[in-house]
Amino acid sequence: MIKTCVIGSGLTALARAWQLKQGGQDCDILEISDQFGGSIQSHRAGDYLAEEGPNSIQLNSSEVDNFLRSIPGYQDRVVAASNDSKRRFILRNGKPMGVPTGLLSAITTPLWSFSGKLRALKEPFIAPICPKKEESVADFARRRLGHDIYRYGINPLIGGIYAGEPERLSLRYAFPKLYALEQKYGGILRGSIAIMRADRKSNAPKVEKQIISFKNGLAELPQLLVAALGEAVHANVSISSIQKIGAGWRVDWNGKTHIYDEVLITTPAHALDKLPFNESLQKALQPLLKINYSPVSVLTVAFKQSDVDHPLDGFGVLVPEYEGRKILGVLFPASLFASRVPAGEVLLTVFLGGERQAELAVPDKDTLLATVLPELKELFGTTGEPTFSHHRHWPRAIPQYNLGYGKMLAQMDAIEKKFAGLKLAGNYRDGISLSYCIEAAVSKEGHLIA
Ligand SMILES: Cc1cc2nc3c(=O)[nH]c(=O)nc-3n(C[C@H](O)[C@H](O)[C@H](O)COP(=O)(O)OP(=O)(O)OC[C@H]3O[C@@H](n4cnc5c(N)ncnc54)[C@H](O)[C@@H]3O)c2cc1C
Repeated sequence: MIKTCVIGSGLTALARAWQLKQGGQDCDILEISDQFGGSIQSHRAGDYLAEEGPNSIQLNSSEVDNFLRSIPGYQDRVVAASNDSKRRFILRNGKPMGVPTGLLSAITTPLWSFSGKLRALKEPFIAPICPKKEESVADFARRRLGHDIYRYGINPLIGGIYAGEPERLSLRYAFPKLYALEQKYGGILRGSIAIMRADRKSNAPKVEKQIISFKNGLAELPQLLVAALGEAVHANVSISSIQKIGAGWRVDWNGKTHIYDEVLITTPAHALDKLPFNESLQKALQPLLKINYSPVSVLTVAFKQSDVDHPLDGFGVLVPEYEGRKILGVLFPASLFASRVPAGEVLLTVFLGGERQAELAVPDKDTLLATVLPELKELFGTTGEPTFSHHRHWPRAIPQYNLGYGKMLAQMDAIEKKFAGLKLAGNYRDGISLSYCIEAAVSKEGHLIA
């Protein structure tokens, strides 16, 4: 039986440990802090529920669905988002405008200009770029879809997903599936149609694509996994040494020596230098410390419903940089999930900072409120004071798969080859979404990006 030492307790760690345990393998999960779940943290204060990190999981593969269903207690606690989640908004000329969901709405939407729509129609006829040339997300979007759809479609989306800079993010590494659509099928529309057809023909089990959370917030997911893993999970752990010995690894933690076959490191890349490795491994890990993480502040505010003009009947609003606003985007969590706010009130989760305006991601709540409240007033017609507010500052929130990221991934492969039994996983390797963390954890190799 293989025994694994899993370092960290974010979703990558807990999901991989649960996968290993179900396969009959043994592990210890070592978390440095007193909280499990990493970025997944929910704050409950009476009738209010604020997500400090991720708000929901996009369920889009049977692997992820099957994995989640295997967790004891999952079915009792999971909640699907309301139909409002299908309605998304992007800000244009200071007004939230609905994002088209079909052909007709794409033709009639005021979100994109007439010339922008005509330009986007050329997409299927644009030749793929040479695979040797690495392209930024912004260049890819402008080349295939034109400037207007880039500015009022892709640009705000990148702010919403990566809190990133589209001119620097690498299409190939930040959006590998989109990159593959062009390379394999010749374009976005052609690729999407081919995949839809293949899905229809395939006998593989179909999963209902939906957005999910949990009755008491997303933090219930790590809590369920921790409960399922039982005594294998350890908080407040102090690791004093990690050394390769023969075919295995010796890890000294909490004053005792433990022997493992494998060590799986799932800390953020910027925390790798805090681990007590020997000199040659520390040297090999050095390049990974340069991976850039965008800073984000998350401010959740509640208002009386009567103090807000907008119905907030959707997932949320993303803000393109061309709108000259301070906020990156706003989610409407209480429109998607029940029991997040007292009756007669509404909840807004506001994101600030990112690569776009890093200086706006600050730890002080009063500063955030002073920045955010005037913009909420202009965008949604809020009046009066918030009935509740809660914030979380992430100085290094999300890893940026910027141009040249292939070198980082190659370095990770090289480290694993040189130090047999050591594995690196987490959102800086396999993709930043929670679904990717699970897909990587359940895959045979524990990795998604080749
Ligand atoms: C504000 C925000 C909003 C997001 N929104 C969404 C969303 O809506 N949907 C979505 O799919 N994704 C979202 N994401 C992304 C997603 O939450 C993360 O990519 C994912 O949770 C990262 O998981 P992880 O396992 O890679 O690492 P992490 O969650 O970063 O966990 C790493 C763990 O390692 C521990 N650790 C660090 N150093 C040590 C050490 N020396 N020893 C032991 N342990 C250590 C840390 O304490 C932490 O618990 C969001 C992220 C943020 C920050």
